Amino acid sequence: MKTIDSLGDLAGKKVLVRSDLNVPLDGTTITDDGRVRASVPTIEKLLAAGAAVIVTAHLGRPKGEPEAKYSLAPAAARLAELLGKPVTLADDLVGPSAKAVTDALEPGQVAMLENVRFDARETSKVDEERQALAAELAAFADAFVSDGFGVVHRKQASVYDVAQVLPAAAGTLVEKEVVSLGKAVTDPARPYAVVLGGSKVSDKLGVIANLLTKADRLLIGGGMVFTFLAAKGYEVGTSLLEADQIDTVKGYLKTAEENGVEIVLPTDIVAADKFAADADALVVAADAIPADRMGLDIGPDSAALFASKLADAKTIVWNGPMGVFEMEAFAAGTKAVAQAMIDSDGFSVVGGGDSAAAVRLLGFDEAGFGHISTGGGASLELLEGKVLPGLAVLED
Ligand code: ADP
Ligand code: MG
Repeated sequence: MKTIDSLGDLAGKKVLVRSDLNVPLDGTTITDDGRVRASVPTIEKLLAAGAAVIVTAHLGRPKGEPEAKYSLAPAAARLAELLGKPVTLADDLVGPSAKAVTDALEPGQVAMLENVRFDARETSKVDEERQALAAELAAFADAFVSDGFGVVHRKQASVYDVAQVLPAAAGTLVEKEVVSLGKAVTDPARPYAVVLGGSKVSDKLGVIANLLTKADRLLIGGGMVFTFLAAKGYEVGTSLLEADQIDTVKGYLKTAEENGVEIVLPTDIVAADKFAADADALVVAADAIPADRMGLDIGPDSAALFASKLADAKTIVWNGPMGVFEMEAFAAGTKAVAQAMIDSDGFSVVGGGDSAAAVRLLGFDEAGFGHISTGGGASLELLEGKVLPGLAVLED
């Protein structure tokens, strides 16, 4: 993979950087600035090399046209604070404002283009449309640095196509992600344990299938666990359930047994009468969830069981919270897994946007983990063993 050094002398050059600034917002307040912070080292490295930096990024899911609530303004302001220098945000992506702002940019200065998903061509399935946008973005700069790890699994104009127009290289974040996740993907130290949770099984099917050939232990919690419990024939009440995945999950349970992969399911569940912070919550056995209750966390026995299954692991990958950690009453399972990872001597990786946010929101020290990935889908696809388009274009 090409790195920034391969771009040669950058003094006086303009470098377009694709960052991942897709931060959670409460109105215009950033509730977790992890991704903005993770984007700083590459930008600082380029500035130190004498370049001017033009940042392009997306925020949220606008529908291919400008929408005020998805403006990158909060991210630009936070980035400016972290860099200790102004970040000039253009009003548009490739329009007159972007042209004026990038034309005026001097070495050592930073500009940001408005949300790249305000232009429908960014995510178009039509190659020519993406390429047209990529050419307009490329016109602002002399080189391209791909640093938005969270989007490298996307074949999008600002990720994939622009890298084919300008001299391109991976930023330091993408480099670090690939090296760290690579440790888990190729030849992991054993026992290799994977903890999966979060809300949707269907999102994570590919990775589960792949892990059934690689991992020694698979611990399942979060919303996805109810499809597993249902596959075992248990009542899951009003919990999250993907009924159309039950047969697939049955297949996984069988494959796991054949391959000698230990699947660890919760033995108890925190079952609530409604999806609310002040819900009435009961701890029940995993095979005895009342029909009118929903499971919102793994129970205390399960948390202890999961921790014991992680204690001697040499590689731990965790993707997806064990419960609705955003509500204090349902955060204990997620906390237990995070703590077990910190306590383990093994190499631990946190993948998944919400899992990484959980680590920070629940007050854990990020230094206690081997690596906290900034990319949910991208880290999963790497774990699945897929070729990621945004990484493939950065190969020498
Ligand atoms: P990640 O971003 O780490 O991959 P996901 O996006 O798959 O994780 O899922 C995160 C969400 O899953 C969180 O918002 C959390 O509240 C939710 N969640 C976890 N457990 C449950 C559950 N039992 N019921 C409903 N939602 C859950
Ligand atoms: Mg998520």
